[in-house]
Amino acid sequence: MNLHEYQGKEILASFGVAIQKGIVAQSAEEAVSAAKALTEETGTGWHVIKAQIHAGGRGKGGGVKLAKNLDEVSSLADQIIGMQLVTPQTPPEGKPVHQVLVCEDVYYPGESETSEFYISVLLNRATGRNMIMYSTEGGMDIETVAEETPHLIFTEEIDPAVGMMPFQARKVAFNLGLSGQAFKEMTKFITALYTAYVNSDSSLFEINPVLKTSDNKILAVDAKVSIDDNALFRHKDYLALRDIREENPIEVEAGEVGLNYVDLDGNVGCMVNGAGLAMATMDLIKQAGGDPANFLDVGGTADAARVETAFRLILKDPNVKAILVNIFGGIVRCDRVAQGIVDAYKNLGDAINVPIIVRLQGTNADIAKELIDSSGLNVLSATAFQEAADKVQEAIG
Ligand code: GDP
Ligand code: MN
Repeated sequence: MNLHEYQGKEILASFGVAIQKGIVAQSAEEAVSAAKALTEETGTGWHVIKAQIHAGGRGKGGGVKLAKNLDEVSSLADQIIGMQLVTPQTPPEGKPVHQVLVCEDVYYPGESETSEFYISVLLNRATGRNMIMYSTEGGMDIETVAEETPHLIFTEEIDPAVGMMPFQARKVAFNLGLSGQAFKEMTKFITALYTAYVNSDSSLFEINPVLKTSDNKILAVDAKVSIDDNALFRHKDYLALRDIREENPIEVEAGEVGLNYVDLDGNVGCMVNGAGLAMATMDLIKQAGGDPANFLDVGGTADAARVETAFRLILKDPNVKAILVNIFGGIVRCDRVAQGIVDAYKNLGDAINVPIIVRLQGTNADIAKELIDSSGLNVLSATAFQEAADKVQEAIG
């Protein structure tokens, strides 16, 4: 589950991670009250107005603006709330902004320069250990840093049995070129950050930038936090943080009926039973010159009703030019699935306006093929993998 910046920062703060302070606002009036409250609390005269959407690169897209007085707070909040924010990480049409985070300005001048760092915590799947990934190149697009100057990205792996050792926090602070007070602050920051990561059952923390202020504080200025869905039963209080407006509506609907659906950019819809077969099917579609429009695992209990629901979901994606059904009948019987397809066709009628290629293999595959071939519907059946690929290619041209 992905969180908004303001929610992520609240979780960080609850574990003692120092953050740039902010208050979320749904309107210009709320933004002004928030700014006043922040001035009272921190003494800041300047504020930053930050669009809250589930995507990064907001600064580049005009979703993060500095306000030097309350009039600017009001006008910038008014301008950002309700805008359709386009960033390198949003779909091309952008995402609507429903709320802003009004923050204290933390880039004030002082005794030393400010510096921005990149720090993330994530699981290294190759070693099965959590790691801290960090760089002096904060505030930049980390993918670009990884591509052009990979030597500027450091990693520190944590032994799960021992936890983070104090020397590891010091090593991070050292490699970030810090000394004196900032060094001490960074070791505290890293230690609290890792504790927060483990105890919140997160799957990703990405803090870009972490700021060293001109008076040597270390603060999280941004926060991308993803909570591991499988751990949400342990964090009932986090459930309320879900913002369905940020999620793909087809994925939300699929989740409600217990289907595993992931929306993708391609043009060939697929309906498969089993995650492994679904991955192989996506490869098959690629090889046939197409691009999968989705990942959909209908699971081991693919009966007629589920098949129909799955069709309805896939057809909601306007990019779909063909649908490939690839079912291996082990527990599920192929003839049942075939019947589901025939029923779905009858019930959905004109809604099915793209060719369907069906490959059914396994228990009762022959009966299934007969059912489909004799149905008189615009369904191409295949038994071999390659045959299915060829038919997909034909269908999408
Ligand atoms: P992102 O663009 O979605 O990654 O949003 P960030 O939270 O990282 O903010 C984008 C940029 O806004 C940061 O890299 C900073 O340069 C700038 N910014 C954030 N907070 C402040 C602030 O308090 N003062 C000033 N002057 N700039 C800020
Ligand atoms: Mn950022």
